[in-house]
Amino acid sequence: MPFVDTHLHLEELDDPEAAVAEAVAAGVTRMIAMGTDLATSRGAIGFAERLPAVYAAAGHHALNSTDPDLAAFRELLSRPRVVAVGEVGLDGSPDPEYPQLERQLGWFGSMCDLALEAGLPVCVHVRQSEELVYRALKARPGLTGVMHYFALDQGWAERFLALGFHLSFAGLVTRATRGELREVARRCPADRLLLETDSPFGPAFLVDTARVVAELRGTSLEQLAELETRNATALFARLR
Ligand SMILES: [Zn+2]
Repeated sequence: MPFVDTHLHLEELDDPEAAVAEAVAAGVTRMIAMGTDLATSRGAIGFAERLPAVYAAAGHHALNSTDPDLAAFRELLSRPRVVAVGEVGLDGSPDPEYPQLERQLGWFGSMCDLALEAGLPVCVHVRQSEELVYRALKARPGLTGVMHYFALDQGWAERFLALGFHLSFAGLVTRATRGELREVARRCPADRLLLETDSPFGPAFLVDTARVVAELRGTSLEQLAELETRNATALFARLR
């Protein structure tokens, strides 16, 4: 019953090695550690080179204060354990600490262009910036990827699916109060569904989310594991 945790931040965990071992024992046999800047991207690759269950993504996230070093990122993307560009995207949260959306959009665009150049998918963060993210992705035919921590409505789900993107569901879907999101997960095409933890409690908790998604879709946990693994290995071609 092997699952792939398609999005987590290992450096945020108290004991990443123990969390990975616990996840593997629980059936989450592979996971993709994100980077949010050059340092955490290098950190994610370090984990991936030490731990066989871990793969890495390298990216410059919306919440940065400096511009990305594109040459350094280009080099990281050539490493064999790097399976995606991420985490990247836009965050329009009304927080004065966040950079202006125009600046974020410049970074996001250059990260998407690097992904196209490297032939890698993007792991996309979107908050209060759906239209801008949608337009940036639509402007780049051939770009593939996943809308991570999907929490938008069915209309947005359909627009991103129409671009060929996957939807990744996290712990939010386990909450009974999130009826609309649960419906999105139930209706998500079988070949576009992914799962993730985005950390907080460690990758082993992916199984809790998987159990709820399996129930919503009227499928067994085993069948969901097979489907999710197939989707993850299809999208992230460097996963072995
Ligand atoms: Zn994340």
